[in-house]
Amino acid sequence: VKVLLTGGSGFIAAHIVDILLQHGFDTVVTVRSDDKGKKILEAHPDTPKHKLSYVIVKDVAQDGAFDEAVKSNPPFDYVLHTASPFHFNVEDPVKDFLDPAIKGTTGILKAIKAYAPEVKRVVITSSFAAIVNGNQHPKVYSEENWNPVTWEEAMDPSNVYRASKTFAEKAAWDFVKTEKPNFDIATINPPLVFGPVVHYLNSLDAINTSNQRMRNIIQGQMKEKLAPTGVFLWVDVRDVALAHVKAIEVPEAGGQRFFVTAGYFSNKDLVDIVRETHPELESKLPPKDSPNDLPENIYGIDNSKSLQILGLKYHSFKESVSDTIDSLLAVGA
Ligand code: NDP
Repeated sequence: VKVLLTGGSGFIAAHIVDILLQHGFDTVVTVRSDDKGKKILEAHPDTPKHKLSYVIVKDVAQDGAFDEAVKSNPPFDYVLHTASPFHFNVEDPVKDFLDPAIKGTTGILKAIKAYAPEVKRVVITSSFAAIVNGNQHPKVYSEENWNPVTWEEAMDPSNVYRASKTFAEKAAWDFVKTEKPNFDIATINPPLVFGPVVHYLNSLDAINTSNQRMRNIIQGQMKEKLAPTGVFLWVDVRDVALAHVKAIEVPEAGGQRFFVTAGYFSNKDLVDIVRETHPELESKLPPKDSPNDLPENIYGIDNSKSLQILGLKYHSFKESVSDTIDSLLAVGA
């Protein structure tokens, strides 16, 4: 059984590669350069070529970007689409975020419909960003909720990442409704993803966006003052990766969104764990009496679909934080 995984060089995708291989899938990843592809193969020296290889897709926003990548012999059975920009360097909201997110998603679906009719399911990495309503939280967040962000609001750099994920996911569901392709889709909607780094990382300067606060904390960047938490929901990258693979393995996952979260956290909880598991870092850590900004009457969360249909069992926050810090120290703090 053969799978195409886009954005192979990414933080989450690298964990998906590991699980796909463990579960016996033949895996082809897309990357932006030969160099990035080679790094992935080097990380799996014992894996034969027919089990793991790469193809180059330089920019997912280009028309027809995936037309060649989706063709394969034997053909692909499943596609996992993770490639999408996730950072906060916004110069041009449309070019930097909305185009690659939206056109990347519709582009791959069009290419599959036209050139890869054997594909049965496409799993798309969406986000809690496509669920959250920052203006008015519902009582309980679940797959029923959609971010109400408008195109106009998306031009604000502080909104554009969330908007890009919202519009891309909407475009995917619309595509299936109007184009009625041979495949169905499922989306994985994680909040902030923490966890060990297994992708190639030259230095901690290049750490992926969602692990940046962990790096900042252990480098002493919050020594004087702990930064506000921002989003109070998290999930471990290994659980997010497994959710993607389960979403192709479990027939009932088709046509579903999955809100995958392990629960609430605050930066204060995070630092308390680092203090306990890595006492040698004490001199870098924020003050012991930093306030905990987790609101007492915070919105509810319902992740039951991910437990029942995908069978996820979430990592604990302590395990996730401790493993993440270990992996960052291994890269070199
Ligand atoms: P990374 O930045 O590590 O991965 C993003 C991947 O997308 C990289 O492989 C990157 O390639 C690729 N990419 C970005 N833009 C383009 C483009 N224009 N053309 C081709 N490839 C592109 O982040 P994550 O692993 O965290 O993110 C993976 C997915 O998960 C994204 O869809 C993100 O929105 C989603 N997500 C992440 C969360 C998190 O907290 N980490 C939370 C919720 C959703 P390159 O390395 O070459 O730049």
